[in-house]
Amino acid sequence: MISVRRPLIAGNWKMHKNTAEALALVEQLLYRLRDKHRVEVVVCPPATSLEAVCQLVSTATLYVGAQNTHWASEGAFTGEISPRVAREMGCKFTIVGHSERRQYFGETDAYVHQRTRAALETGLTPIVCIGETLAQREAGETVEVIRRQVTTALENLIAPQGGGLVIAYEPVWAIGTGRAATAADAQEVAAFIRQLIAELFNASTAAKVRILYGGSVKPDNIGGFMAKPDIDGALVGGASLSADSFAGIVARAGRYQG
Ligand code: PEP
Repeated sequence: MISVRRPLIAGNWKMHKNTAEALALVEQLLYRLRDKHRVEVVVCPPATSLEAVCQLVSTATLYVGAQNTHWASEGAFTGEISPRVAREMGCKFTIVGHSERRQYFGETDAYVHQRTRAALETGLTPIVCIGETLAQREAGETVEVIRRQVTTALENLIAPQGGGLVIAYEPVWAIGTGRAATAADAQEVAAFIRQLIAELFNASTAAKVRILYGGSVKPDNIGGFMAKPDIDGALVGGASLSADSFAGIVARAGRYQG
Protein backbone atom coordinates (compact mmCIF):
# COMPACT_ATOMS: atom_id res chain seq x y z
CA MET A 1 0.00 0.00 0.00
CA ILE A 2 1.33 3.46 -0.91
CA SER A 3 1.54 5.81 2.06
CA VAL A 4 -0.55 9.01 2.06
CA ARG A 5 2.65 10.81 2.96
CA ARG A 6 4.80 11.84 0.01
CA PRO A 7 8.50 11.29 0.75
CA LEU A 8 10.39 14.51 1.40
CA ILE A 9 14.12 15.17 1.11
CA ALA A 10 15.24 18.61 2.26
CA GLY A 11 18.75 20.02 1.94
CA ASN A 12 19.99 22.48 4.54
CA TRP A 13 22.92 24.34 3.01
CA LYS A 14 23.60 26.24 6.25
CA MET A 15 26.04 29.15 5.74
CA HIS A 16 27.56 27.70 2.57
CA LYS A 17 27.67 29.06 -0.99
CA ASN A 18 27.46 32.52 -2.43
CA THR A 19 24.67 33.31 -4.86
CA ALA A 20 26.59 32.23 -7.98
CA GLU A 21 27.47 28.91 -6.32
CA ALA A 22 23.90 28.44 -5.10
CA LEU A 23 22.48 29.00 -8.58
CA ALA A 24 25.03 26.61 -10.09
CA LEU A 25 24.04 23.88 -7.64
CA VAL A 26 20.34 24.44 -8.31
CA GLU A 27 20.95 24.22 -12.08
CA GLN A 28 22.71 20.89 -11.58
CA LEU A 29 19.91 19.61 -9.35
CA LEU A 30 17.19 20.67 -11.79
CA TYR A 31 19.01 18.67 -14.46
CA ARG A 32 19.61 15.64 -12.24
CA LEU A 33 16.03 15.61 -10.97
CA ARG A 34 14.35 16.27 -14.33
CA ASP A 35 12.70 12.84 -14.52
CA LYS A 36 9.41 12.45 -12.74
CA HIS A 37 9.81 11.13 -9.23
CA ARG A 38 7.62 10.71 -6.20
CA VAL A 39 9.87 12.56 -3.80
CA GLU A 40 9.25 16.17 -2.81
CA VAL A 41 12.65 17.89 -2.86
CA VAL A 42 13.48 21.09 -1.00
CA VAL A 43 16.63 23.18 -0.93
CA CYS A 44 17.27 25.67 1.88
CA PRO A 45 20.00 28.07 0.76
CA PRO A 46 21.37 30.86 2.95
CA ALA A 47 19.07 33.90 3.20
CA THR A 48 21.49 35.85 1.01
CA SER A 49 20.63 33.63 -1.99
CA LEU A 50 16.97 32.88 -1.27
CA GLU A 51 15.46 35.33 -3.72
CA ALA A 52 17.77 34.37 -6.61
CA VAL A 53 17.13 30.66 -6.02
CA CYS A 54 13.36 31.21 -5.81
CA GLN A 55 13.47 33.01 -9.15
CA LEU A 56 15.37 30.16 -10.79
CA VAL A 57 13.14 27.46 -9.36
CA SER A 58 9.78 28.13 -10.87
CA THR A 59 8.83 24.50 -11.44
CA ALA A 60 7.57 21.88 -9.04
CA THR A 61 10.80 19.89 -9.49
CA LEU A 62 12.30 21.63 -6.53
CA TYR A 63 10.89 23.69 -3.67
CA VAL A 64 12.73 26.33 -1.70
CA GLY A 65 12.86 26.77 2.07
CA ALA A 66 14.31 29.37 4.40
CA GLN A 67 16.67 28.20 7.16
CA ASN A 68 14.92 30.30 9.79
CA THR A 69 12.01 32.75 9.91
CA HIS A 70 10.80 35.10 12.61
CA TRP A 71 7.45 35.10 14.42
CA ALA A 72 6.52 38.61 13.38
CA SER A 73 5.83 39.51 9.77
CA GLU A 74 7.74 42.78 10.19
CA GLY A 75 9.21 44.97 12.91
CA ALA A 76 12.35 45.99 14.79
CA PHE A 77 14.11 42.60 14.68
CA THR A 78 17.56 43.29 13.26
CA GLY A 79 18.98 40.41 11.25
CA GLU A 80 15.81 38.32 11.22
CA ILE A 81 13.82 37.07 8.22
CA SER A 82 10.14 37.83 7.81
CA PRO A 83 8.05 34.72 7.10
CA ARG A 84 5.69 36.85 5.00
CA VAL A 85 8.55 38.12 2.83
CA ALA A 86 10.00 34.60 2.50
CA ARG A 87 6.58 33.38 1.35
CA GLU A 88 6.21 36.25 -1.12
CA MET A 89 9.67 35.46 -2.55
CA GLY A 90 8.49 31.96 -3.34
CA CYS A 91 9.55 29.88 -0.34
CA LYS A 92 7.24 27.01 0.51
CA PHE A 93 9.11 25.71 3.57
CA THR A 94 11.05 27.08 6.52
CA ILE A 95 13.34 25.27 8.94
CA VAL A 96 12.48 26.06 12.56
CA GLY A 97 14.52 25.31 15.66
CA HIS A 98 17.55 23.69 14.05
CA SER A 99 19.94 22.50 16.77
CA GLU A 100 22.57 24.99 15.58
CA ARG A 101 20.07 27.81 16.22
CA ARG A 102 19.34 26.34 19.64
CA GLN A 103 23.05 25.84 20.44
CA TYR A 104 24.56 29.08 19.12
CA PHE A 105 21.72 31.60 18.99
CA GLY A 106 19.74 30.97 22.15
CA GLU A 107 16.72 29.51 20.39
CA THR A 108 14.40 28.17 23.10
CA ASP A 109 11.41 25.84 22.83
CA ALA A 110 9.19 28.91 23.36
CA TYR A 111 10.77 30.71 20.38
CA VAL A 112 10.43 27.55 18.30
CA HIS A 113 6.73 27.56 19.14
CA GLN A 114 6.31 31.19 18.06
CA ARG A 115 8.24 30.68 14.83
CA THR A 116 6.22 27.54 14.05
CA ARG A 117 2.93 29.34 14.65
CA ALA A 118 3.93 32.26 12.42
CA ALA A 119 5.11 29.94 9.64
CA LEU A 120 1.80 28.06 9.66
CA GLU A 121 -0.21 31.29 9.72
CA THR A 122 1.83 32.63 6.80
CA GLY A 123 1.32 29.53 4.66
CA LEU A 124 4.89 28.26 4.99
CA THR A 125 5.37 24.61 5.90
CA PRO A 126 7.58 24.55 8.99
CA ILE A 127 10.21 21.83 9.25
CA VAL A 128 10.41 21.75 13.04
CA CYS A 129 13.73 20.31 14.22
CA ILE A 130 14.01 18.42 17.47
CA GLY A 131 16.55 16.04 18.92
CA GLU A 132 18.51 15.10 21.99
CA THR A 133 22.19 15.75 22.72
CA LEU A 134 24.62 12.91 23.38
CA ALA A 135 24.58 13.67 27.11
CA GLN A 136 20.77 13.50 27.15
CA ARG A 137 20.75 10.20 25.23
CA GLU A 138 23.36 8.69 27.55
CA ALA A 139 21.36 9.84 30.57
CA GLY A 140 18.28 8.05 29.21
CA GLU A 141 16.44 11.34 28.70
CA THR A 142 15.67 11.06 24.97
CA VAL A 143 11.94 10.43 25.35
CA GLU A 144 11.46 13.30 27.81
CA VAL A 145 13.47 15.73 25.67
CA ILE A 146 11.50 14.82 22.55
CA ARG A 147 8.20 15.06 24.42
CA ARG A 148 9.06 18.52 25.73
CA GLN A 149 10.33 19.84 22.38
CA VAL A 150 7.37 18.52 20.36
CA THR A 151 4.75 19.55 22.91
CA THR A 152 6.09 23.06 23.41
CA ALA A 153 6.53 23.65 19.69
CA LEU A 154 3.02 22.50 18.76
CA GLU A 155 0.71 23.04 21.73
CA ASN A 156 -2.32 25.24 21.15
CA LEU A 157 -1.79 25.36 17.41
CA ILE A 158 -4.65 24.71 15.03
CA ALA A 159 -4.21 21.26 13.48
CA PRO A 160 -2.21 21.82 10.29
CA GLN A 161 -3.82 20.54 7.09
CA GLY A 162 -2.33 17.81 4.92
CA GLY A 163 1.40 18.11 4.41
CA GLY A 164 1.43 21.45 6.20
CA LEU A 165 3.72 20.40 9.02
CA VAL A 166 7.00 18.50 8.97
CA ILE A 167 8.99 17.31 11.99
CA ALA A 168 12.69 16.55 11.61
CA TYR A 169 14.12 14.25 14.26
CA GLU A 170 17.80 15.16 14.36
CA PRO A 171 19.81 13.70 17.23
CA VAL A 172 22.39 16.44 17.86
CA TRP A 173 25.22 13.92 18.16
CA ALA A 174 24.53 12.66 14.63
CA ILE A 175 24.65 16.06 12.90
CA GLY A 176 27.80 16.59 10.86
CA THR A 177 29.63 13.81 12.69
CA GLY A 178 29.39 10.99 10.16
CA ARG A 179 27.79 8.96 12.94
CA ALA A 180 24.17 8.46 11.93
CA ALA A 181 21.58 6.98 14.28
CA THR A 182 20.58 3.43 13.48
CA ALA A 183 17.41 3.19 11.43
CA ALA A 184 15.82 1.21 14.29
CA ASP A 185 16.58 3.92 16.87
CA ALA A 186 15.33 6.66 14.52
CA GLN A 187 12.12 4.69 13.85
CA GLU A 188 11.49 4.28 17.57
CA VAL A 189 11.66 8.05 18.11
CA ALA A 190 9.66 8.78 14.93
CA ALA A 191 6.85 6.48 16.10
CA PHE A 192 6.85 8.26 19.46
CA ILE A 193 6.62 11.66 17.72
CA ARG A 194 3.67 10.45 15.66
CA GLN A 195 1.93 9.27 18.80
CA LEU A 196 2.52 12.68 20.44
CA ILE A 197 1.03 14.44 17.41
CA ALA A 198 -2.05 12.23 17.66
CA GLU A 199 -2.39 13.26 21.31
CA LEU A 200 -1.88 16.96 20.56
CA PHE A 201 -4.16 17.05 17.49
CA ASN A 202 -5.85 13.88 16.30
CA ALA A 203 -5.14 10.58 14.54
CA SER A 204 -5.84 11.93 11.08
CA THR A 205 -3.32 14.77 11.47
CA ALA A 206 -0.76 12.31 12.88
CA ALA A 207 -1.21 10.11 9.83
CA LYS A 208 -0.48 13.04 7.51
CA VAL A 209 2.42 14.82 9.23
CA ARG A 210 5.75 13.92 7.66
CA ILE A 211 8.57 12.93 9.99
CA LEU A 212 12.13 13.19 8.69
CA TYR A 213 15.33 11.79 10.07
CA GLY A 214 18.41 14.05 10.00
CA GLY A 215 22.02 13.43 10.96
CA SER A 216 24.79 12.24 8.61
CA VAL A 217 22.40 11.00 5.91
CA LYS A 218 24.20 9.88 2.74
CA PRO A 219 23.18 8.01 -0.43
CA ASP A 220 24.33 4.74 1.13
CA ASN A 221 22.30 4.96 4.34
CA ILE A 222 19.06 6.71 3.24
CA GLY A 223 17.48 3.39 2.24
CA GLY A 224 17.58 2.03 5.78
CA PHE A 225 15.69 5.07 7.10
CA MET A 226 13.16 5.15 4.26
CA ALA A 227 12.33 1.49 4.86
CA LYS A 228 10.94 2.38 8.30
CA PRO A 229 7.18 2.99 8.55
CA ASP A 230 7.26 6.31 10.43
CA ILE A 231 10.19 7.91 8.59
CA ASP A 232 9.08 9.86 5.53
CA GLY A 233 12.36 11.35 4.36
CA ALA A 234 15.43 13.20 5.51
CA LEU A 235 16.84 16.58 6.38
CA VAL A 236 20.31 16.55 4.87
CA GLY A 237 23.19 18.90 5.72
CA GLY A 238 26.65 18.12 4.34
CA ALA A 239 25.49 15.73 1.62
CA SER A 240 23.11 18.37 0.21
CA LEU A 241 26.04 20.55 -0.88
CA SER A 242 26.88 18.41 -3.89
CA ALA A 243 24.45 17.59 -6.70
CA ASP A 244 25.81 14.05 -6.94
CA SER A 245 25.20 13.08 -3.33
CA PHE A 246 21.92 14.98 -2.93
CA ALA A 247 20.43 13.63 -6.18
CA GLY A 248 21.69 10.18 -5.12
CA ILE A 249 19.76 10.46 -1.86
CA VAL A 250 16.61 11.58 -3.71
CA ALA A 251 16.90 8.73 -6.21
CA ARG A 252 17.25 6.12 -3.48
CA ALA A 253 14.47 7.63 -1.38
CA GLY A 254 12.15 7.40 -4.40
CA ARG A 255 12.42 3.61 -4.39
CA TYR A 256 10.44 3.36 -1.18
CA GLN A 257 6.69 3.40 -1.22
CA GLY A 258 6.37 4.40 2.43
C1 PEP B 1 21.60 19.12 9.58
O1 PEP B 1 22.37 20.05 9.80
O2 PEP B 1 20.39 19.28 9.69
C2 PEP B 1 22.17 17.83 9.24
C3 PEP B 1 21.40 16.79 9.29
O3 PEP B 1 23.51 17.82 8.90
P1 PEP B 1 24.36 16.56 8.36
O4 PEP B 1 23.53 15.87 7.30
O5 PEP B 1 25.61 17.15 7.80
O6 PEP B 1 24.59 15.67 9.52
